[in-house]
Amino acid sequence: MAAQETVDHKYVYDFSEGNKDLKELLGGKGANLAEMTNLGLPVPPGFTITTEACQAYLATGQEPDGLAGQIEAHLEALERAMGKRLGDPQDPLLVSVRSGAKFSMPGMMETVLNVGLNDQSVVGLSAQAGQNDRFAWDSYRRLIQMFGKTVCEVPGEEFEHALDEAKNAKGTHNDLDLDADDLRGLVDAYKKIFLKHTGREFPQQPREQLDLAIRAVFESWNAERAVLYRRQERIPADLGTAVNVVTMVFGNLGPDSGTGVAFTRDPGSGAQGIYGDYLANAQGEDVVAGIRNTVPLQELERLDKSSYDELLGIMARLEEHYKDLCDIEFTIERGKLWMLQTRVGKRTAAAAFVIAGQLVDEGLIDLDEALHRVNGAQLAQLMFPRFQLDHEFQPVAKGIGASPGAASGTVVFTSARAVELAAEGESVILVRRETNPDDLNGMIAAQGILTSRGGKTSHAAVVARGMGKTCVSGADEIEVNVPAKRFTVAGRTVNEGDVVSIDGTTGKVYLGEVPVMPSEVVQYFEGSLDPEHIDNALVRAVHRIMTHADGKRRLAVRTNADTGADAARARRFGAEGIGLCRTEHMFLGDRRELVERLILARAADEREAALDALLPLQRADFEEIFREMDGLPVTVRLIDPPLHEFLPPLEQLAVNVAVAQERGEDVAKEEALLAAVRRMHEENPMLGLRGVRLGLVIPGLFAMQVRAIAEAAVSCARNGGVAKPEIMVPLVGAVQELETVRAEAEKIIAEVVGDSGVEVLIGTMIEVPRAALTAGQIAEAAEFFSFGTNDLTQMGWGFSRDDVEGAFFWRYLELGIFGISPFESIDRDGVGRLVRIAAEEGRAARPGLKLGICGEHGGDPDSVHFFHEVGLDYVSCSPFRVPVARLEAGRAVVESGGSDSR
Ligand code: PEP
Ligand code: MG
Repeated sequence: MAAQETVDHKYVYDFSEGNKDLKELLGGKGANLAEMTNLGLPVPPGFTITTEACQAYLATGQEPDGLAGQIEAHLEALERAMGKRLGDPQDPLLVSVRSGAKFSMPGMMETVLNVGLNDQSVVGLSAQAGQNDRFAWDSYRRLIQMFGKTVCEVPGEEFEHALDEAKNAKGTHNDLDLDADDLRGLVDAYKKIFLKHTGREFPQQPREQLDLAIRAVFESWNAERAVLYRRQERIPADLGTAVNVVTMVFGNLGPDSGTGVAFTRDPGSGAQGIYGDYLANAQGEDVVAGIRNTVPLQELERLDKSSYDELLGIMARLEEHYKDLCDIEFTIERGKLWMLQTRVGKRTAAAAFVIAGQLVDEGLIDLDEALHRVNGAQLAQLMFPRFQLDHEFQPVAKGIGASPGAASGTVVFTSARAVELAAEGESVILVRRETNPDDLNGMIAAQGILTSRGGKTSHAAVVARGMGKTCVSGADEIEVNVPAKRFTVAGRTVNEGDVVSIDGTTGKVYLGEVPVMPSEVVQYFEGSLDPEHIDNALVRAVHRIMTHADGKRRLAVRTNADTGADAARARRFGAEGIGLCRTEHMFLGDRRELVERLILARAADEREAALDALLPLQRADFEEIFREMDGLPVTVRLIDPPLHEFLPPLEQLAVNVAVAQERGEDVAKEEALLAAVRRMHEENPMLGLRGVRLGLVIPGLFAMQVRAIAEAAVSCARNGGVAKPEIMVPLVGAVQELETVRAEAEKIIAEVVGDSGVEVLIGTMIEVPRAALTAGQIAEAAEFFSFGTNDLTQMGWGFSRDDVEGAFFWRYLELGIFGISPFESIDRDGVGRLVRIAAEEGRAARPGLKLGICGEHGGDPDSVHFFHEVGLDYVSCSPFRVPVARLEAGRAVVESGGSDSR
């Protein structure tokens, strides 16, 4: 039975058998060729060998059973349809053998053209082409070259060298000057090269050529560059490529032939129009090789009006059919147009929004689909400031856009210098060959980071993204010389102190300071651009799609903010409350000393004095925030600092005391402080006395904060405002911790609030795995949960959140242990599972329990979808990510097939 199944398994599809939805099986190219064939468009006939055949071949090193027979049958059908036979001496059918995976991997895999040519059929091809010997021999030499290089690993340079020699002998630089005799001679030379490297003659059997070419395309899936590209683009390694066997059509048969590429709209801006390039008397590979300059597609109207009109008609038809921007490749053979490829085209972030909006206007898609077509990463890109480029600025190098943004600054080569200059208020760009954890301080100080080595997962890239800092990595035209404090690029030398500008979105590097302009999209969110009254297609499209997302989403979006200014900005960006106000941020600067006194106090009166001083300051902090968030909920988290952030550094203190003692000074006070700091010193402050633990250990600390919150809310109400405070207890692991804090807090609240009408909720963060696992118990004492996924990730994985990303995550990413840092995007299987358990058990114990998330993941697009799935009520994120979260929360509804709206 199993054997029978293998024999019957279908590995080859005629173009008329496939369709655009079969990309997994037929690859993108094959699926779309099939789609165009079925639309009745002029596609050269052919067939596709499936990715499953490739997978089977790569697993065993052999073509699967049945494949050879199926290829034979499809080839015969093709020959019948064309009225020609592969390699027929009189009138040969020639085919191209092209790779085509599910995801586009441009130029990474192999193609062999003109399969079917040999010493006899070359004559037949010439006859077919109207006794065009030059064309026939040129086609033959191209076959030997491509076949030799791709299938038999003959070094490509040898062929190129022979071609150069032929041109030299003729005294020309142009291929087109070689005549039929020259090319015949070149074929002989190529055959000798082939023999020398392979120990065999160039195969004359067309079917053998075909089989070997198919094999080579299968194998090119695992070529080094393809493997690297997949890793970079996170394309799974086991998909395999399909192979398309397509009847050859020739764009190089004379001036009435040619080849081109086109987009149905501008992929840069989304504007409607005709965008493309055309090259007369050429094949596609000539365009790629840049042998001659292409002309704008509009020129084709003059050269061949009927093909041009037909092409425009087809492009309109494709757009209507795919309901999207398409890019195409075509060839004209003696006035006859052929479509060689189409696919939904890549586009910039701006074009994605504009096109989605246009397609809605044109009635091709609805707003749900428009929402599906854009994403939060694109929106985030549109919110970065951009370079204002004019012709004056040309890039001197291009690397990988590793972390978006636009940054200009003084070049420095060491972390120390970056820190020094930044401290003087200068904007600096840290330039390194590659970075390592020792560069961390410099990276923090720098405005941007530029490296000459390393990809999207290099240390520089990962760390910069984590910090939200602009980074261009792997700009390999740049020669960095750190000891000499300079780099060279394009024949220029840039010394420390010179200014460069880097674009972390495009990867481009400019000399000098390129002016930066604020994003229009941010201006729109800020309320300074009115979408109804400006002629800006992008802003109007963003407005329209955001409005739809807001109408769709079930998740509310709050913000993490600890100042009135941040709260106000987030509100303009659409935040519907504060999900996390980190009160420890309110104790920095001048107030640090008060907190230090409080923590180190040994006597009650010392402690109370510090608390009394802090109370009015805190009350004022909260009043400001409640005012900005009038009418909206504000979650205030009780203080949660890792202790070491508020204590003087132990080593420094010990040295100071020792030096003072040496000098015979009176150090009694310093010694007492040193003893206290020693007493409180922790090896792992992130796992130490922080959060609720600190509140339970230092009497009066949480009570002071609760009082300040309640008093601020009452004062807000008295002034006619509406404050909705939600007090949140951090780092709870056991319900008893929460119950203890709650009992004290309730008393204070009752006393302060009285009959003012103010309502104060008390809830907890879920950020310790134990809390997630005992959520049912904890919910008994909590009116809400907010998931602290930063700590939950730290403690779920056992990764120190302050250290690991810069230290070794690049290696984990390289090894594919995870595809993205779990601190950046929620680890659904592990940490996400803890969230799910806590949500379910919490709600089971307390129906209606309010659930939110306030870790960094609250603004990460994929994580927002996960939180939607789990059924949380809101996500909370930094002000700048609020629009991204709104958009993704809407997309989550559309993508889960729901018509949820709020
Ligand atoms: C968290 O742990 O996810 C959280 C929001 O708290 P913090 O980052 O302040 O520890
Ligand atoms: Mg935390």
